[in-house]
Amino acid sequence: MPDMPDMRGTEMRTGGCLCGAVRFEARQVPAEAGICHCAQCRRWTGSALIGVAVPEDAVTWTGAEAIVRYASSDWAERGHCGRCGTPLFFRLTREGTQWSGQYDMPLGVFDDPEGFSVTSEIWIDHKPGSFAYAAPETRKQLTRAECLAIFDPGNAA
Ligand SMILES: [Zn+2]
Ligand SMILES: [Zn+2]
Repeated sequence: MPDMPDMRGTEMRTGGCLCGAVRFEARQVPAEAGICHCAQCRRWTGSALIGVAVPEDAVTWTGAEAIVRYASSDWAERGHCGRCGTPLFFRLTREGTQWSGQYDMPLGVFDDPEGFSVTSEIWIDHKPGSFAYAAPETRKQLTRAECLAIFDPGNAA
């Protein structure tokens, strides 16, 4: 079945974890991806999180019982496959922020990793200079403080 752009110019995409225990069908997947350079994403992915934001209600999981959720901070959790460890999503647990209600899903979990372009970077002030990849600074960039103002608005310093 071909990708079917919806009226927002987004696509339906399928994907899953390394072992296949978790599969998903995601609608409204945007083409614009972002990189997070925070230390948590660095450890969680082993590099940096390059992900796309998909509305939670646009994702249908198969094998959801294999998903393990880990509360990585007071404002967010991460889901991974409990069998193979594949990172599946980052999501804000705070309600009502501009980024609530969506899964930030690593590009690598989609069956077809083509068709995305990286247009933004966050936690830009924590990006390691020694990383081999070079991210053009023409992208939209947010610092840690700017991110915390979104993720955890009540406590952001
Ligand atoms: Zn798995
Ligand atoms: Zn991060």
